[in-house]
Amino acid sequence: MDAQYPVQVNLDNCAKEPIHIIGKSQAHGVLLVCDRSNLNITQAGENTSEFFGIPVDELLGKPLSFLLKMPFSGHDFEEGSLPQEVEVNGKKFLVLSHTSEESLVLDFEPLSTVGDPFFFQKQLTGILNKFQEAQSLAQLSSEAAKLTRKMFGYDRVMIYRFDEEWNGEVIAETKNDDMEPWLGLRYPATDIPQQSRRLFLKHRVRIIANVHYTPVPLKPEISPITGKPLDISRSSLRAVSPIHIEYLKNMGVGASLSAAIVVKGKLWGLIACHHNTAKHLDFYQRESCRFLAQMLSTEITLHETSSLLNHSEQAESIRRKLVAQMKSHDNIVEALSRDSVKYLELIDCGGGAIFHINQWELNGNTPTKEQLDSLLNNFIKQQPKSLFWTRNLSALFPEAEEYKKTASGLFSLKISDNKYILWFKPEVVQVVTWGGNPQNKVFYNEKEQRLSPRKSFEKWSEKLTGFSEPWHELDRNTARALRENISHVLLVRQRREIEALNAKLIEANQELELFSYGLSHDLRAPVRGMEGFLKILREDYSEVLGSEGVKYLDMSTGLTQKMNDLIDDILEYSRLGHIEKVEKQKVDTEAMLKEIFELFNLPVNFPRAGITIQSNLPVMWGNRRMLFQLWSNLLNNALKYSSGKEKPVVEVGVTSINDRSTFYVRDNGIGVAENLKKKIFETFQRGVGSKFKGTGIGLAIVKRIVEKHAGDIWVESKPGEGSIFYFYLEPLKVGAYAND
Ligand code: ADP
Repeated sequence: MDAQYPVQVNLDNCAKEPIHIIGKSQAHGVLLVCDRSNLNITQAGENTSEFFGIPVDELLGKPLSFLLKMPFSGHDFEEGSLPQEVEVNGKKFLVLSHTSEESLVLDFEPLSTVGDPFFFQKQLTGILNKFQEAQSLAQLSSEAAKLTRKMFGYDRVMIYRFDEEWNGEVIAETKNDDMEPWLGLRYPATDIPQQSRRLFLKHRVRIIANVHYTPVPLKPEISPITGKPLDISRSSLRAVSPIHIEYLKNMGVGASLSAAIVVKGKLWGLIACHHNTAKHLDFYQRESCRFLAQMLSTEITLHETSSLLNHSEQAESIRRKLVAQMKSHDNIVEALSRDSVKYLELIDCGGGAIFHINQWELNGNTPTKEQLDSLLNNFIKQQPKSLFWTRNLSALFPEAEEYKKTASGLFSLKISDNKYILWFKPEVVQVVTWGGNPQNKVFYNEKEQRLSPRKSFEKWSEKLTGFSEPWHELDRNTARALRENISHVLLVRQRREIEALNAKLIEANQELELFSYGLSHDLRAPVRGMEGFLKILREDYSEVLGSEGVKYLDMSTGLTQKMNDLIDDILEYSRLGHIEKVEKQKVDTEAMLKEIFELFNLPVNFPRAGITIQSNLPVMWGNRRMLFQLWSNLLNNALKYSSGKEKPVVEVGVTSINDRSTFYVRDNGIGVAENLKKKIFETFQRGVGSKFKGTGIGLAIVKRIVEKHAGDIWVESKPGEGSIFYFYLEPLKVGAYAND
């Protein structure tokens, strides 16, 4: 069951008071509810006899035509239709209609004098001119108050403005001479609770025709269509919250009108009118008032936007200069704080601080570094968002009481975990005059045994300490943009540093390669020499050396051979690194494989190996010499690392992987351990002991060759069962055959 309107609304529950389902109307008209589907009357205010001369019970269940003895159609009362003038038992009414779920809600307001409905609209043209002449917000507000009073004749008209905390301040006023001035007075946010503000945003103009009225209950209270209380928040006749009525009575007000001033979709303030006695404005007058409030809203928006634009242009230009400074300085902190333009100029403040890699840079009036350490670690870092601002820091962080003179206002911007920028605003002691003591906004009403709104609206001055001037929305945008700029500058800087480091690394690598190339090259001749001398020793001095000596001699020859292989491989690897442009041609794969196997002299060197070559292997596009080396190294490894098997098998073929023709060499040898699958393609990385001969460079050469051919190579393996080396090359160019 949906909540019903509470029997007793008091100040404890008034902020949550469900005024939309209050179930009662004001007494200056009749609320009538019909079923939308058939226009039968389902609910009506209990004051029908007074206005229509028909008791409510007689109306319930009857069709609407029973009441309106005139031609009409359902369309006349559709959502959005214009108010209809109707006659009931010789009395004229204006009917305002709207829908609420399945119901059609009709507000019958008596029409006394049928005046010119456009009379006010004509006046409004003049108003527009007056508004446009106003130079300042104060002038605009005062003009709006005067015009409203002139048009509608209320005893007091005020322009009421909300602050960030929804306290209101009277910023313009006109009134009867004998009334006490309320200009400059403030009213606490609780005076107009949140749900009333929300309704103002929706309905814009609201009147209370007679504060001393007796609310008229709807009969029945629960809608027979939905079984729930009917939402009548949009009815102009909806009854007023009893708390609000009491509040107005305490103020000595007899009737009121409030029109919303809405700026950028937010309730900015109200045109608030009070009358000492009852006062009703008809629909047309209320529409004029709505129009006036709308024009005022537009003018205020224009005012605010143009001043925002001015400020934002200034901030923009300062920010641009800061960015230029950051680009030309090595040190960001210096760029922001010590050059000709400073970050303090970006946001209106008394001082600021930059925290950068555990160091504070302080500028202007600020708390001490020790105080800031604590503020940062114990408060700012706890904030969930990177932007934080307050004008009353000590209320949130009591320690800040010590330095409230310099930093009652704090605006903090987090750039990264070790970079923050803070701005401070000094305390501005203000004397605020409230319309009644806001501390005593309620008192215990003995008679009615409940809390009541304050009775006294005597001016009550309060000295506000620990507050700074407020921060502005523009500050937030400016700070966000600055953060982007700083991050960008830092990112570019980091990227440049990485690039420089990379270039250095490449250079060092090249140097190393050149060095090893030189070394290998220079070693070649002496090793060859040694080889020659060892050969002479073997041939001519074997007898002198004896069998033991010959054994050592053979070992030395073996070692020089190994040295030769190593030198050859290093030179080959370096040579490949220096090739800028690979001369390519079409290469017959099968013919090349045959050539290699012949060279390997399989029957002698690998007599047990079984070799399969898939038929119709595609031709390759590449450098013949390099591809020869590539296949030789892969096949040699496959034969070498499977040679321990009883029946070594090596298989060469091609398969399609990711739509690419990919060659493979499969063997059933020792396999490659998972952690070595990438490593074995690096220089000098061997995954085996001395049992297998090798230099550890073969696969590094293979990888370089594959990369020079815009391809890739990888291995799949099950240790102990064998390996498959896959590689692909840049595919054959279209038209490559044409030159054959
Ligand atoms: P090596 O001269 O050691 O063969 P490579 O660069 O050709 O040098 O190979 C590097 C390492 O990769 C080898 O030491 C070996 O551990 C492993 N490897 C290469 N091919 C195979 C293979 N077909 N089966 C098992 N392991 C292999």
